[in-house]
Amino acid sequence: MASYDYDLFVIGGGSGGVRAGRVAASLGKRVAVAEEYRFGGTCVIRGCVPKKLFVYASQFAEHFEDSAGYGWTVQTPEFDWRTLIANKDKEINRLEAAYRSGLGNAKAEMIDSRAVLVDDHYVRIVAEDRVVSAETILIATGGRPNPHDALPGHEHCISSNEAFDLPVLPRSIAIEGGGYIAVEFANIFHGLGVETTLIYRGKEILSRFDMDVRRALHEEMEKKGIRILCQTVAIGVDKTSGGLAVHLNSGDTIQVEQMMLALGRLPNTEGLGLEAAGVETGKTGEIVVDEFSRTSVGNIYAIGDVTNRVQLTPVAIHEAMCLVDTLFRGKPTSPDHDTIATAVFSQPEIGTVGLSEDAASTQFDELEIYLARFRPMRHTLSGRDERMVMKLVVDGKSRKVIGAHILGPDAGEMAQLLGIPIKAGLTKDDFDRTMALHPSAAEELVTMYQQTYRVKNGERV
Ligand code: NDP
Repeated sequence: MASYDYDLFVIGGGSGGVRAGRVAASLGKRVAVAEEYRFGGTCVIRGCVPKKLFVYASQFAEHFEDSAGYGWTVQTPEFDWRTLIANKDKEINRLEAAYRSGLGNAKAEMIDSRAVLVDDHYVRIVAEDRVVSAETILIATGGRPNPHDALPGHEHCISSNEAFDLPVLPRSIAIEGGGYIAVEFANIFHGLGVETTLIYRGKEILSRFDMDVRRALHEEMEKKGIRILCQTVAIGVDKTSGGLAVHLNSGDTIQVEQMMLALGRLPNTEGLGLEAAGVETGKTGEIVVDEFSRTSVGNIYAIGDVTNRVQLTPVAIHEAMCLVDTLFRGKPTSPDHDTIATAVFSQPEIGTVGLSEDAASTQFDELEIYLARFRPMRHTLSGRDERMVMKLVVDGKSRKVIGAHILGPDAGEMAQLLGIPIKAGLTKDDFDRTMALHPSAAEELVTMYQQTYRVKNGERV
């Protein structure tokens, strides 16, 4: 049998790669993880973690306003962008160090270099110009923002990568896209006092979510003062003396200091040596894998965003854990991508799990819909005119709850917990016999006894 330098060589030190490398090493395997940028990957370095910190930062403006109704007087608050960036960087550095020490403690080797495939068992460590061999190779190189090359002037625009480290907070920004990143950043920048315009090609933002929360969020964002232009695209971006001129298909031009593109993310597969190794890729450059994350080459696997299955950190981590079971614990395990709870950290935020009403109505003959709109208690004294939305989608035959959609404070936290009963296949009757926790917003989820309407063969009745 051939002897290799490593049992497992991981390319990419993000959430998926580090988890697979660390756990495999802790099982006594000889593991190396190569990372060309920073350990932690998109999520830790320029994604979920700094984003959530920015969300917290941007919420204070409303907290200060809301406190007045509770008796507080706050002197005119001031915000310093550079302090936020510096403190965010400190936290990111701490997390990166934790990722490194996790790998180090498990005795995985860390290689600070780009690594590319030479063939199915050999990998070139680019920074050191040497080649090593591995019995199994795992590609976990993640993705990058779609640069939207087709847009004239796209080179003047920023992506989420740059948004985390802008030297100066712009006074105005246009953001194109209607997905997670565009919506989250529109709320972040607006909360930090930036005049914000969201440009989206479709009829309503957040195309993958339930229509009731999409519409309600749109309304709440506009009430705050975020300008949302639907059925609109940018057709060109020019540099001007004061910033940028963004030309729209409507014929209008808007002047902004920054323009951000958030038009999806592309898998990082270019220049990885995939052709040399014979690894197949799909239409968007993603690595094609089977149910066990195995590529078209028997000893090469891929997990996380590079496979473009579900682009979420916990999914990459779950895929990593399944892979370790498959490869090193003698338990072939395929990742379960069904019923994933997710949140959009907009303001108010969205938490969702399971099927939207529209998606469910294409799969089930009959649905019961439970829908509540109310002012959350915290906004009674604050006086803020903001509504919360809670919606349950129930299969009319089995009475299983197949979707839950929430817009409002802490919706993400609620969606995480709702993921358990919905994954477990519990019914509306189980929800109904659960005691409410009072006073909370979440109690609404177990006290919506009367259905709001039914959907039969796709039609509301
Ligand atoms: P999304 O897929 O969420 O959204 C992409 C948006 O860009 C959509 O609104 C899409 O429109 C639009 N779009 C795509 N191509 C074009 C084009 N050529 N012209 C105009 N509009 C276009 O991607 P994001 O970039 O927002 O985020 C990437 C991924 O990262 C997400 O899918 C998500 O999985 C993950 N993420 C998760 C977060 C979370 O869990 N909270 C936070 C941030 C990111 P349309 O809808 O019409 O297709």
